[in-house]
Amino acid sequence: MSVWAILVAAGRGERLGLDRPKAFANLGDEPLLAEPLRRLEACPWIDAIVLVAPPGWEEPAILLAEEEGCGKVRACVAGGEERSDSVRAGLAEVPEEALVILVHDAARPLVSDDVVERVLAPLSEGWDGAVPGLPVGDTLKRVGADGSVEETVERDRLWAVQTPQAFAAAAFRRALSPSNTVLQATDCAGHVEAAGGRVKVVEGDPRLLKVTTAADLDRVASWL
Ligand code: C5P
Repeated sequence: MSVWAILVAAGRGERLGLDRPKAFANLGDEPLLAEPLRRLEACPWIDAIVLVAPPGWEEPAILLAEEEGCGKVRACVAGGEERSDSVRAGLAEVPEEALVILVHDAARPLVSDDVVERVLAPLSEGWDGAVPGLPVGDTLKRVGADGSVEETVERDRLWAVQTPQAFAAAAFRRALSPSNTVLQATDCAGHVEAAGGRVKVVEGDPRLLKVTTAADLDRVASWL
């Protein structure tokens, strides 16, 4: 089974308030991107990596991958306006012979072999995709612009979904083809679900926290 990872790192990360994209924010002593790159490189389940860099930052991204000895990186391309554009740019570099495509957010630096193994397992049981998730602990409310509660959402069976997300390559390509564009899908699994694919949720990991703010960066750094 040939498994290709698309590492999407092209977000601007405006909420960090830095003069550079989030992938190049400092996590410990290194650019954030170094951590997920190193982890995917060392992961025995992954054969090859496509790196999707912020536009204009392809060169530093390639240099970083070289410095980290990431021999699995087969291509580095510029991302697009939206996350799904960046995923499509990465997908264009994945060869036809790939059987499984795994998409991971660089903004979740602490990806582990265990979670990769958990999302890959359902694919050999016939699922089209598998994603890590955590049951939602807080009560959820839909709130209007003026702060008024419009609805309390039934929390039962709600899961917060993370990456890495793994897909059978054929189902993933079909779901991301222009004829299947679903604008409201905010993750890759959403595209596969909308195209009729069966997606399984497996146990996620609290350490897969997505870095959005400076406080998230500090928290992830404390877990290194
Ligand atoms: O913006 P957000 O933090 O939700 O992005 C999740 C992941 O998708 C990040 O790793 C980010 O770099 C990536 N992304 C991207 N291209 C975009 C927007 C986000 O590669 N246009």
